[in-house]
Formats: sequence, structure tokens, C-alpha cells
Amino acid sequence: MLKKKIEKILIGTNNIGKLKEIKDLLPKSVTIFSTKDFKLKSPNENGKSFIQNSIIKAKFFSKKTQMTCLADDSGLEIDILNRQPGIFSARWGGKNNDFNKAILKVYNKLYKKDKNWKDKKIRARFICALTIYWPGGKKISSLGKIEGSIAVKKKGNNGFGYDPIFIPKNSKITFGQMNPKRKYKIDHRFKAFKKIKKFF
Ligand code: IMP
Repeated sequence: MLKKKIEKILIGTNNIGKLKEIKDLLPKSVTIFSTKDFKLKSPNENGKSFIQNSIIKAKFFSKKTQMTCLADDSGLEIDILNRQPGIFSARWGGKNNDFNKAILKVYNKLYKKDKNWKDKKIRARFICALTIYWPGGKKISSLGKIEGSIAVKKKGNNGFGYDPIFIPKNSKITFGQMNPKRKYKIDHRFKAFKKIKKFF
């Protein structure tokens, strides 16, 4: 068991939205480095699950820098699309990670699946896997989920990715319409982080 709390950490992501959110979760006393500080490109995510991909990223960035690294792999699962886009959530945005393109793809797939999809509740969830990887090779992973549904049109300019089309359960507004501080306290990343908070 590691008794020493983590005092400095590399956040293993090149996604600005995630970086912002993870920074907000960590205690202010922790010194944060980003992949930009080391000019590092992301590794190939060839895992078969969110957990596997978060391990690939945390290990890759830790090995490159000899630092303890916290990496996230996350995405959106839509039930009637057989849980797509899932681990391919970022890839639906194409080479340029265009979130508008990814959202259009969701709407096209929903329409192809069921022309009346807008009259139904389209169940979906965000999933987040977090892994901390220490230079010695020790690692720990956790998983967080938030259930919700898909909005019939994009709403709100906050957040990133699929936020404008995701309505969390028991809410009437999308993550894109929600104040970020509120989103950060209920979402998949927050829930995953709660389980590994003790290391900081
Ligand atoms: P990856 O984990 O870097 O492969 O990318 C995860 C992708 O899932 C992001 O690029 C977003 O499209 C989506 N995603 C993950 N978490 C969130 C979130 O909190 N809000 C909106 N989209 C998210």
C-alpha cells in the first residue's frame, strides 16, 4: 500500500475539456503537469475497454516522463445503438476531433435505427475509467458512470464532446447547458475520481 500522498502528477490527456475538468477535481495542493509541458502525443488506444485504454495512456505517459500519471478514458454509450459509440466516442469526431461531426453521426445513426426516435426516451450513459500509474509500475483503476438520455437537438455551449446532447437522469437540461461546476460534481469523471481520491 502506498502511504505517501501524490504531490505532483501528470494528467495524461491531450483533450482540453478533460484536462480542465480533472484539474478541477484534484486538491489545490497537488502540482499538475500536462502532456503539453512535455510535448507528448497520445498513444494508440487499442484496448477493448475503457479501463484497458486508460491503463495504456497512463502507462505510456508515465514511462515517457518518469512521473506518476493520471489518465482518463471515457465515452458515451447509447443503448439502442448497441452501446455505440462507446470506446470509439472520440474517433466519431474524425481526425480533427470535431465534436459537431460526432454529434451528427449520433443523430444519423439514431434516425437510421428508428425514424421516430425523437418520440422516445433514448437511454444513454457516460462512462469514465481513470488510472493512476506510478513510475515503479504500480497502477490503480476506477470506473464511474452517469445515466441519462439523448436530447432531440443540441443545447448549450458549456463543456465539450457530447455534452450538448446528453441530459443526465433527473435533470431537464443538457450537460452543455449546465454550469460546469455543477456538472463536475455529478458526472462520470467525478464518480470515478471519488474512488481514487485517497491517493491525493
Ligand atoms: P478519449 O477518452 O480521449 O478516447 O475520448 C473520450 C471522448 O468521449 C471525448 O472526446 C468525448 O467525445 C467523449 N466524452 C468523454 N467524457 C465526456 C464528457 O464529460 N462530456 C462530453 N463528452 C465526453
